[in-house]
Amino acid sequence: MTKAFASQADLADKKITFSKLADNAYAYTAEGDPNTGIVIGDDAVMVIDTQATPIMAQDVIRRIREVTDKPIKYVVLSHYHAVRVLGASAYGAQYVIASEATREMIVERGQQDYDSEVQRFPRLFRSVETVPGLTWPNLTFSDRMTLWLGQTEVQIIHAGKGHTKGDTIVWLPKERVLFSGDLVEYGATPYAGDAHLQEWPATLQKLRDLKPVALVPGRGDALTTPEAVEEGIAGTQAFVTALYEEVAKRAKSGQSLKQAYDGAMAAMSPRYGNWVIFEHCMPFDVSRAYDEAKGIDHPRIWTAERDIEMWKALEAK
Ligand SMILES: [Zn+2]
Repeated sequence: MTKAFASQADLADKKITFSKLADNAYAYTAEGDPNTGIVIGDDAVMVIDTQATPIMAQDVIRRIREVTDKPIKYVVLSHYHAVRVLGASAYGAQYVIASEATREMIVERGQQDYDSEVQRFPRLFRSVETVPGLTWPNLTFSDRMTLWLGQTEVQIIHAGKGHTKGDTIVWLPKERVLFSGDLVEYGATPYAGDAHLQEWPATLQKLRDLKPVALVPGRGDALTTPEAVEEGIAGTQAFVTALYEEVAKRAKSGQSLKQAYDGAMAAMSPRYGNWVIFEHCMPFDVSRAYDEAKGIDHPRIWTAERDIEMWKALEAK
């Protein structure tokens, strides 16, 4: 291989920022590594996405304990990806909440995704031996549910497909703070290997319609003004739209996956090449866009073996 697989060459630790978005809402962000959101209710704390391992989650807990001693009672999974969910056991939460569609994905492909992601991101799975197994939600919902943490209203919404088929957002309507998971990225490349690219923009419009004043993306800094929120949503929308258009026109004109990849890379690198994990994501993103353009609605399962085969095929010079 001429280029190191996925993020295997990315070994430098990132700087963590723990920022206050409202009296009861915080963001744990890390220069483009996966983010965690925190909501502090009257009598309990909610964590949105867990980090990749219990050891890495301990750093989130340390930050939470600097601002509150209330029990961490709720964990929300924005979707099923291992790098966001496998740290869940560290919190000892009573409820692990996910959409029904996300639970279906864990049943169908959770273990393959675990094996694949550990191989992709060695740095993000620090102390992977502390992961006790897959993270299983014990409270699921279809389209939406509302939790009241005392006086704090927390809406948990499956707004539609996009990054995955089960994407879930957390919305604080009074504070107008939104936790988007990987539906929105900021300065980081959207991963689309399991995406529904043609539906992603309409789902983003639903997030925009909420008119957030602050948004915690899946990766990248917290967005803390309406203008910054719009920049994050619009940037993600432009990327996923360009990705699908660049790949679909090539797939439909009979080009091979490798030809579509080379063409999409040439077209998109000038604008997006400086976003975090661009080189990591594009082979997966183009593979999925190509399948979707060929009419495959349900994303094919990535395994540790399929990952490497695809990488070799697309990165061959
Ligand atoms: Zn993800």
